[in-house]
Amino acid sequence: VSNLVKHFPIKRGYFQEKAYVKAVSNFSLKIYKGETYGLVGESGCGKSTTGRMILRLLAPTSGSVQYKGQDITHFSDEELRNARKEMQIIFQDPYSALNPRKQIGKAIAEPMSIFNLGEKRQHKQLVLDLLRKVGLQPEHYDRYPHEFSGGQRQRIVLARALAVNPAFIVCDEPVSALDVSIQSQILNLLQQLQEDFQLTYLFIAHDLSVVRHISDRVGVMYLGHLVEEAPTDALFSEPLHPYTRALLSAVPEPNPKKRKERIVLSSEVPSPIDLPKGCVFHPRCPQAIATCKEVVPVLQEMGTGHRVACHLVS
Ligand code: SF4
Ligand code: MG
Repeated sequence: VSNLVKHFPIKRGYFQEKAYVKAVSNFSLKIYKGETYGLVGESGCGKSTTGRMILRLLAPTSGSVQYKGQDITHFSDEELRNARKEMQIIFQDPYSALNPRKQIGKAIAEPMSIFNLGEKRQHKQLVLDLLRKVGLQPEHYDRYPHEFSGGQRQRIVLARALAVNPAFIVCDEPVSALDVSIQSQILNLLQQLQEDFQLTYLFIAHDLSVVRHISDRVGVMYLGHLVEEAPTDALFSEPLHPYTRALLSAVPEPNPKKRKERIVLSSEVPSPIDLPKGCVFHPRCPQAIATCKEVVPVLQEMGTGHRVACHLVS
């Protein structure tokens, strides 16, 4: 993903002046085959918009997305259709993703028909296999979505995403709506499926402990910008960006020896319509210096894949 930008035009105020919600600014990253890339940040920071642009469910304002070396940014609908077979997305709310009047076996088989995969008479057997893979039973085939719990529905949605034999799945807050006890079951299932189906994930979440559990690398987003990126262990043991440090200081730490003082950020997140000049984090940054108000910090490689955008780190 190179220099991705998304500005949503809006009208505001009494005179209906034209303005832009700057949801994503100059965003670049690479996701490697077989890995889980965790993208984390507060709600409204542009994570989901980024995920949708990567799948071309949303056209970027500028920038480009390459998939397996192919630039898909300007693919036609027909070309996108073929690429989509390999790319799936699952959302936070599994219930709204399922048709309440459709038996789940049929719902899972549907993408196979849409993409003309295999022969129709094989579909039922394939669905039964998928049900087993996601931890459901054959007798669930004829049941309706309301007969399942939230966790089970997320399993159904996963089975449907897997029906097209995808390579890449964007998981947009897939466990945020579930009870904590169920969350780890679904995270473990995602890891199991990654092995079984050789999947690559972009895992979007606002919860750092969830991201830590599942990701190989983590990117931290703030107001549409990628501010830090590192292998998971490095990010949690040696966070470099002041925003990442503040986020981490809010995560409960069971070991009192490791507990750090909580960094409380002043003021609210600024509006993405009027982004602050210089570093977008400067109005809330406890360490801001004069330069921060004027000059945009660029993402710099600090070695071993740790990248950070901050004037104080070099
Ligand atoms: Fe804080 Fe300045 Fe670093 Fe931005 S560039 S995070 S304002 S110290
Ligand atoms: Mg979101």
